[in-house]
Amino acid sequence: MRPDAPILRFAPSPNGRLHLGHAYSALLNDDLARRMGGLCRLRIEDIDPVRSKPELVEAIVADLAWLGLTYPEPVRHQSRHMESYRATLRRLIDRGLAYPCFCSRGQIRAQAAASADNLHDPDGAPLYPGTCRGLDPAIRAERLASGEPHTWRLDTTAALRCAGHRLSYEAFDGAETRLVVADPARWGDTVIARRDVPTSYHLSVVHDDAEQAITHVVRGQDLEAATDLHVLLQRLLDLPTPRYHHHALILDPGGEKLAKSRGSQSLADLRQAGVTPEAIRARLGFA
Ligand code: GLU
Repeated sequence: MRPDAPILRFAPSPNGRLHLGHAYSALLNDDLARRMGGLCRLRIEDIDPVRSKPELVEAIVADLAWLGLTYPEPVRHQSRHMESYRATLRRLIDRGLAYPCFCSRGQIRAQAAASADNLHDPDGAPLYPGTCRGLDPAIRAERLASGEPHTWRLDTTAALRCAGHRLSYEAFDGAETRLVVADPARWGDTVIARRDVPTSYHLSVVHDDAEQAITHVVRGQDLEAATDLHVLLQRLLDLPTPRYHHHALILDPGGEKLAKSRGSQSLADLRQAGVTPEAIRARLGFA
């Protein structure tokens, strides 16, 4: 392989069995990596200590192998890299770009509903009104020292001042590339580290795409808006920005996104019902 060959990744979260939507994303990554003369890595996004289950990790690898997809070693497991994420978070805190937030979800919902504009982020969650941003430093230190549960939020205004306001990334679609202007401010002060682990999806994904030298990110359209935030974090942390392709989602017959909670059939269910990997590839357009 050329030293500058493209590197892609498939990055499932092991909190349920893979379904057709995952299969499409995995097959598309594999297909594009081959066409570009590169490779696709596997990353297990298991930062959630409650929802991620070791048996699901094994099942994911087995389902992918059943589809005919194998990956170069080592496979990255995010749960094994918490210290690296903690150090990355620390860099943002030390530069005054992140602050602890002691608000519960219920409090945030109530605060947002009470505010006149009641704004929402691109995922539809109430926009955090910034309650803990201006906490008195002495009170903040006291609450941290007492061990009060907290998340860490990006101070987006400070972050944008530091990163410069013109943020963009290259989106690719086949041979076409276009520049997309990123607007991370629409996420407000996002959580970059959860209560239970020193990271979040956003922080780990940005850290790991750089760590794994990913050049092309191929993932579902449901993550397109999050890319704005990822570009901001990359700029703040001095990490390269890969190219992005956000593919259409596979929907169920009712036009809804596939999800275990809506009873979507898993690849394992389909296999049990006698569906072959070839039939799945053909159904998803990879025959
Ligand atoms: N782990 C994420 C998911 O399963 C995908 C993350 C990504 O591709 O950036 O939805």
